[in-house]
Amino acid sequence: MTPEPNSHSANLARETVAVSAGRPERGPDAPVNPPIVLSSTFQGAGTPASGERVYGRFSNPTWDPFEAALSELEGAALPALVYSSGLAAVAAALSLIPLGGILVMPRHSYQGSLLLAEEEAANGRFTVRTVDIADTDAVTAALRGSGTEEADSRPASMLWVESPTNPMLEVAEIETLASAAHDVGALVVADNTFSTPMVTRPLELGADVVLHSVTKYLAGHSDVVLGALATSSEELRTRLHSYRSLHGAVGGPFEVWLALRGLRTLALRVERSQATAGILAERLLVHPAVEAVRYPGLPGDPGHERAAKQMDGFGSILCIEVAGGAAAAQAVAENVRLWLPATSLGGVESLIERRRRQPAEPQSVPENLLRLSVGIEHAEDLWADLAQALAR
Ligand SMILES: *Cc1c(COP(=O)(O)O)cnc(C)c1O
Repeated sequence: MTPEPNSHSANLARETVAVSAGRPERGPDAPVNPPIVLSSTFQGAGTPASGERVYGRFSNPTWDPFEAALSELEGAALPALVYSSGLAAVAAALSLIPLGGILVMPRHSYQGSLLLAEEEAANGRFTVRTVDIADTDAVTAALRGSGTEEADSRPASMLWVESPTNPMLEVAEIETLASAAHDVGALVVADNTFSTPMVTRPLELGADVVLHSVTKYLAGHSDVVLGALATSSEELRTRLHSYRSLHGAVGGPFEVWLALRGLRTLALRVERSQATAGILAERLLVHPAVEAVRYPGLPGDPGHERAAKQMDGFGSILCIEVAGGAAAAQAVAENVRLWLPATSLGGVESLIERRRRQPAEPQSVPENLLRLSVGIEHAEDLWADLAQALAR
């Protein structure tokens, strides 16, 4: 029997793609899972037998199935690129901004992305204009360079999109913003970490590059740190690949293998955690110890209508503002028994964090805000634990 390639069809459902993409070729005794290839170098370099891999900083066979699967989930025409962390992927994406260019970025972007962009700006690499990403008119003005306070009225070279944002959960009108960015010649990078491709596909909405902290939902078990980028542009992919090779931001084969293992259950995990997030959001909304709930799935949420149009579901992160200020919010994070007080998100276990305990968090994030990353535990257990901590 000759081995035949996996018959992978473009019209498989995303749930099926997550399970079936990137499998080894079919054949007698072929493994069902790709092996972990621990090799820093590959035979044949400089000889007539030279292949394409050459050296472990350029490629590794363990990366390929993960990159193929993520690319298929995001609807990218080319294999994705895995990086050593989400921030390494952020750095690679920011490298696409020309020297002296202008980056338009949500003021509530992921903290590390904001800090890195600010550092690049301080070093004179580019200028940053921060915006309320939910305010489409303001973002468009910032992209054009009109209406900005700076003397610099040049158009932007890159638009950074996060939707929903961290931790304010603002929803961006990705399609409208992407076309406004393209009108002024700016590239669009969408950090899709919070949504995952199960919920939002930014490339389909016009983004040029989609970014992931694979650390979060894609790997899904809080046991690896990895990042990834995906694009359908040959030119951009070549530059991003070269950035990875030259800056050495490569993932370890074992970590990438774990990420693919996690990806297999992405659909189930997201389905469960976002269903539970919806249940918890409804109950928290009427809890006397909770002043406000931010969750795009709530009909009263400012991002609800947009989210309903643009997303499949509403994600699994929700934020609450606890009555009684910072101390009361901190006490809730300390009094939970099942929820774990920890930063990060997107794992099978539910995490809770008062974001402003971090000095670098933007001042516009309320002091009493708790970010809840809903995991896959039973909704009633999660609710009972939150309710006892809120009752104290
Ligand atoms: C965590 C995170 C990052 C950074 O990823 P690391 O894997 O921690 O380097 C970037 N963007 C978002 C939205 C994140 O949540």
